[in-house]
Amino acid sequence: MEDVIIIGLGCAGYTAAIYSARYKLKTFLVGAEAGGMGNTAAEVGNWPGEIEIRGPDLMDKFKAHAESFKEQVTLKIAFVKDVMKIDGGFRVLMEGNESVEGKTVIFATGSNKRHLGVPGEAEFSGKGVTYCATCDAFFYKNKTVAVIGGGDSAVEGAAIAAQVAAKVYLIHRKNTFRAEPYWVDKVKEKKNVEFVLERNLVQILGDKKVTGIKLDKPWNGSETLTVDGVFIEIGSNPAVDLPKKLGCEIDELGFLKVDQAQRTSVPGIFGAGDLTSGSNHFAQFTTAAGEATVAANSAFNFLQSGH
Ligand code: NDP
Repeated sequence: MEDVIIIGLGCAGYTAAIYSARYKLKTFLVGAEAGGMGNTAAEVGNWPGEIEIRGPDLMDKFKAHAESFKEQVTLKIAFVKDVMKIDGGFRVLMEGNESVEGKTVIFATGSNKRHLGVPGEAEFSGKGVTYCATCDAFFYKNKTVAVIGGGDSAVEGAAIAAQVAAKVYLIHRKNTFRAEPYWVDKVKEKKNVEFVLERNLVQILGDKKVTGIKLDKPWNGSETLTVDGVFIEIGSNPAVDLPKKLGCEIDELGFLKVDQAQRTSVPGIFGAGDLTSGSNHFAQFTTAAGEATVAANSAFNFLQSGH
C-alpha cells in the first residue's frame, strides 16, 4: 500500500510529490495529462526565480524534479475513474481497470474550463470553438478571432492571439477587467485588438466551421461579427466530483473545503491547488505550490499520528 496517492499532474500535484518524497513517503502520482492547466500558460512571469518561462517548460521542470525521487515516487499518466474508501485507506481506480491503494489521498485535480452554453458552441467545438486561447492561437495565423472573458485567461489569451492573428476581438460583458493590469496594458498596446465591451456572445454561427458570432447588442451597427475562431475563456469550475463522492465537504462556491492544514472534512483526504477553497480562491502557480507543500506535510503528520 502507498503512503500517499496524489491525483493531478499540475503544479500542485508535482509539488506535493516533491515534498512527500522528501518525507520518504511511498508516493503514487497519477493524472490524465502531464502538466495540467500549467501547460496552458503561454508566458509565466510570476514564478519566483524565473523572470519569464513558458508554462509547458515550467511544468516539464516540475515533472523532472518529482521524477528525480526514483525510490519514492511512481508517476503514472492515467485518467482516474473513481476513488473509494477501503479498510486503512483508499483505492484509486484508473482507466484500464488498474487500481492502486493508499493510506492517504491528496486531490490536486485543478479545474475544468467553463462553457457558455450558447447555440452553436457544442456544434462547433473543435471546429473553431476552443477553450484555450494560448494553446490554439497558433492555428489562426492571419485570421480573425474572438476571445470571450475579462479575467487573466482571456486577456493573456488575447495578447497571445494578437501575435499571430490578423485581428482579435476581446469581448467582455463589463467595461472593467478583473485580469492583472499587466496583461490589460499589454493588450491595449496591440493595434490589431478591438475591445468589444458590455456585450455578450449569444450565438456561434457557422457552416462546417465557425464563420461568425452574434452579440446581444449591436457593435458598430451590427449584431454579428465575422470571425474564424472563438476562444471561450470565461473561467473554470473546480474538479471536485471525486472528493464530493467520497463525502468531502464542498464550499458555497463549489470548491473543495479545506482547513489551514489543507485537510478536507474526510480524515486522510487532503486538497491542494485550484480545486480548493484555500488561498482565497486565488488560482496561481505560487498558491498551488504553497497549498501542496502544506498538504504533503499534513499527510505526513496524519501518517505519523493519525490526525
Ligand atoms: P476568472 O474566473 O478569473 O474570469 C472569468 C471571466 O469570464 C470574468 O471576466 C467573467 O466576467 C467572465 N465570465 C464568466 N462567466 C461568463 C459568462 N457566462 N459570459 C460572459 N463572461 C463570463 O477566470 P480565468 O480563467 O481568467 O482565471 C482563473 C484563475 O486563474 C484566476 O485566479 C486567475 O488569476 C488565474 N490565472 C492566472 C494567470 C496568470 O497569473 N498569468 C493566467 C490565467 C489564469 P466578470 O468579470 O463579469 O465576472
